[in-house]
Amino acid sequence: MKDIVIIGGGPSGMAAAVRLAEKGYDVAIIERKEELGGILDQCIHDGFGTKIFGVALSGPEFAGEFIEQVQKLGIDVYLKTYVKSVEASGKVKEIITVSPDGVEIIKTKSIVYAIGCRERHQFEIKIGGTRPAGVYTAGMVQRLVNLYGILPGKNVVIVGGGDVGMIVARHLYLEGVDSILVVFPEEFFAGLPRNVQQCILDFGIPYRPRTVVKEIVGKDRVEGVILVQVDEKWNPISGTEEFYPCDAVILSVGLVPYTKKLTDIGAEIDPRTKGPIVNEFFETTVRGVFAAGNLVQIFDYVDDAVESAYLAAEGVEKYLRGEERLERPIFINPGENVRTLTPHRVEWKDERPITAFMRPAIEGKAWIIVRNERGEILEKSFRRYVRPSTLERIEISRDILENAEEVFIDVRGL
Ligand SMILES: Cc1cc2nc3c(=O)[nH]c(=O)nc-3n(C[C@H](O)[C@H](O)[C@H](O)COP(=O)(O)OP(=O)(O)OC[C@H]3O[C@@H](n4cnc5c(N)ncnc54)[C@H](O)[C@@H]3O)c2cc1C
Repeated sequence: MKDIVIIGGGPSGMAAAVRLAEKGYDVAIIERKEELGGILDQCIHDGFGTKIFGVALSGPEFAGEFIEQVQKLGIDVYLKTYVKSVEASGKVKEIITVSPDGVEIIKTKSIVYAIGCRERHQFEIKIGGTRPAGVYTAGMVQRLVNLYGILPGKNVVIVGGGDVGMIVARHLYLEGVDSILVVFPEEFFAGLPRNVQQCILDFGIPYRPRTVVKEIVGKDRVEGVILVQVDEKWNPISGTEEFYPCDAVILSVGLVPYTKKLTDIGAEIDPRTKGPIVNEFFETTVRGVFAAGNLVQIFDYVDDAVESAYLAAEGVEKYLRGEERLERPIFINPGENVRTLTPHRVEWKDERPITAFMRPAIEGKAWIIVRNERGEILEKSFRRYVRPSTLERIEISRDILENAEEVFIDVRGL
């Protein structure tokens, strides 16, 4: 029987595995693809690892650093192995896998799920019209272009002004497509300013804010889209419809944690992050089952996803050692101007500060405040600039939580 099985061999899964193997535990990684690395194999741009390694690596380079450590530590890796179902209620957990070798049951004392996220599709953003060939998600395009050398089309409309949409726009420009138009409903790009400059403005790629695709037009292949302008509440402004010819539509409209496998074993889900409810060491509401990386919430930077995996690894160790928990959990709740917040509660006796990841709902100079239910400020820290597109990492001291049943995190603009 294994001490820990990690499901998912992306950067988060590998990071948790490495940390636990270094501590001497018997670890295995199960990955459905033919190699480790997760989505990083298709992200050939640089910008990965600036916090952990202090340099901007490409996705495959970043993954390579961890793959090397996995190999050096002799961690068991099951590739081309899909986790079909899990029985996690008892102390001994059973993972049923399917691989070219057949169906297998792997027994383990604990599990870390690190299976990442999925891309939102056109049905989730209510695009009407026909369903011809030529409609892709951004991740699909990255795979086609970067791994297989296939262009999605020659005249491309990209829906979504976040980081992924901008990165894909620059990439297609450099690969030589004839035309690109980026449309998005916000007043300005939602992604990092660095990407607006380096991916869009530097290359003069055309974009239209406050614009969405209303319909896709085409029978067998995309022939164009109906664009429509929207107001500040994203409602279409009638009379502004316009046919725009193109042969590919690329959707980059957000990522959603892939939680089906966790709900199957009874883990509770946070409707804000759409990921599992976790404690300060990323343990889900099922004892001995932990989660890490983009499965918990969407991390902008792989470095933060890796940090969540390191925290999960610490939690696994506490679980395996049978360390003491608090008599009852202390809840950490999103307060004023907070869109998402992880973790959701504090459950273990420990001295280390609690690392939390929070997405603000406002933009500008702000205080991040930890307060109790009576509104008394327990701790605060200043930020020169917060914005919804940037995840904030905060540390909460444990001593301020003494005697508290719950605390709230607020973001207060100045
Ligand atoms: C287009 C794009 C650009 C990005 N650019 C940057 C950047 O410039 N800098 C930066 O720091 N970050 C960037 N990121 C973010 C970064 O890539 C992610 O934070 C990171 O990859 C998350 O890692 P993960 O291990 O949680 O998930 P993933 O990398 O998605 O890994 C999950 C793994 O789980 C496996 N899996 C899923 N289901 C099963 C199953 N049932 N059984 C077995 N295995 C399974 C999958 O095959 C996959 O290998 C970018 C992300 C995207 C999408």
